[in-house]
Amino acid sequence: MSEDKPVRPNERVAALRPAADASLRFIGEIRTPWSDRALCPRQGSHDGPDCRLVLDPIWQPALEGLIDYPLIEVLYWLDRSRRDLIVQSPKGDGRIIGTFALRSPVRPNPIGTSIVRLMCIEGREVIVRGMDCLDGTPLLDIKPDRRSFTPKAPPKPGVD
Ligand code: SAM
Repeated sequence: MSEDKPVRPNERVAALRPAADASLRFIGEIRTPWSDRALCPRQGSHDGPDCRLVLDPIWQPALEGLIDYPLIEVLYWLDRSRRDLIVQSPKGDGRIIGTFALRSPVRPNPIGTSIVRLMCIEGREVIVRGMDCLDGTPLLDIKPDRRSFTPKAPPKPGVD
């Protein structure tokens, strides 16, 4: 965890115990063109550069069927964020907004999500457009975009 981002005027920091282990399992890493935060987009664009979701080899079979979805959701761990800001001042002008009203990487559990365009799959690498994370960001999960996903399990009576 990095807490080196300076605190701006009126921002408030929580006094936190060290985070307990939530037992997340990273499934690979994300290769992007950005190693500098200043050049990394705030939100990815579907016209952005190709980025690679590089899965650990054990998870390659878990990609079966994914190619049917032109849009997929990627979850990742924004590992270089501080995690203790309660309110933030995105513009650094003293005006504050609550952490949960922002999509800032600075949050108690720095999970990033993006809906990205699936370009192709090469072995255990998924090539996508629309990412907005630093090179080497840990990969948490991949799912079909919910808008085009039809449940594969039988309907639940009275629910769906
Ligand atoms: N699209 C995601 C979301 O809305 O949940 C993330 C949005 S967040 C605003 C994207 C920014 O997080 C980038 O512009 C960069 O400044 C920062 N960032 C990217 N990768 C990071 C990482 N691995 N650790 C910490 N910050 C990161």
